[in-house]
Amino acid sequence: MLLDTHGRIARDLRVSLTDRCNLRCTYCMPEEGLRWLARPELLTDDEIVRLVSVAVTELGVTEVRFTGGEPLLRPGLAGIVARCAALAPRPRLSLTSNGIGLARTARALRAAGLDRVNVSLDTLRPAVFRALTRRDRHHDVIAGLDAARTAGLLPVKVNSVLMRGVNDDEAPELLDWALRHGYELRFIEQMPLDAQHGWQRADMVTAAEILEALRARFSLTPEPSTVRGSAPAERWLVDGGPARVGVIASVTRPFCRVCDRTRLTADGQVRACLFAREESDLRTALRSGAGDEEIARLWRTAMWGKKAGAGLDEASFVQPERPMSAIGG
Ligand code: SAM
Ligand code: SF4
Repeated sequence: MLLDTHGRIARDLRVSLTDRCNLRCTYCMPEEGLRWLARPELLTDDEIVRLVSVAVTELGVTEVRFTGGEPLLRPGLAGIVARCAALAPRPRLSLTSNGIGLARTARALRAAGLDRVNVSLDTLRPAVFRALTRRDRHHDVIAGLDAARTAGLLPVKVNSVLMRGVNDDEAPELLDWALRHGYELRFIEQMPLDAQHGWQRADMVTAAEILEALRARFSLTPEPSTVRGSAPAERWLVDGGPARVGVIASVTRPFCRVCDRTRLTADGQVRACLFAREESDLRTALRSGAGDEEIARLWRTAMWGKKAGAGLDEASFVQPERPMSAIGG
């Protein structure tokens, strides 16, 4: 098991498949993009499957989420999914994507064994999308969402980040749209993980503000906490349910105490937390011929030292060197 000194057990693995992306969301990366990892630094498809296999068969991981960067840019994605779906015990498999290309790939991914997707969409207005992501691809995301639902990648969840003065007036509109399309909407508070280090707490749209805006149009009833478990989203039943809306308040209401995540970057580093400043190198071990037991031991050691909290509220907080897109959000 991946146990830490605070008694938490990590069963949910986030695997970044690439640090590259075809959007440039302002809260994530600069217009010119980033210095991408060089090919030899990236784990190969075989190496990814090997590490996922160690996590699932030796370390008790039951959930695997592929992310990035944009995971749909990884050419071998369907093959990786299929091989992970063939592991025993079979982990649940999901994907976090900006949705571009999903219209083309959703069916094949479902057939390969992907269980569900989270698609990021912050606005219903194409012009705002263009300003926020610096690309004119709103229609591709909408088409990708539609294809995901048709392919049965359910429940389809939509992640939205609200930015002050940009799309912070859209919360009720987004929820109304999500309800009509059968998507489960979750708002994510903006986190200090942008490559430009431009995050300002005072600018962040808080969970409390989002809930207040939603309550102006919907009645929200908190879902019992037993249902939340280690899920980062606090959820509310909308107008009595069964539809729900979630808010991931990583900054104002952190869920570190129940966090069950372990993370693997596209270049084979284990991170115990999004905000960790330490990484453990599994790629070197893998490429030096380490056996499964040795890799499992290194992974366990990396997780054992997981800090109690992300420390966002501490004066000593320092943003990690790697941005969200390179860690795997
Ligand atoms: N490219 C894919 C996508 O956008 O869904 C996967 C990677 S992205 C880093 C994963 C999630 O992180 C997205 O929902 C995105 O909106 C969110 N994200 C990125 N930067 C963020 C930030 N600074 N604060 C909060 N969420 C962020
Ligand atoms: Fe790309 Fe996702 Fe970052 Fe947007 S949030 S730039 S889609 S990695």
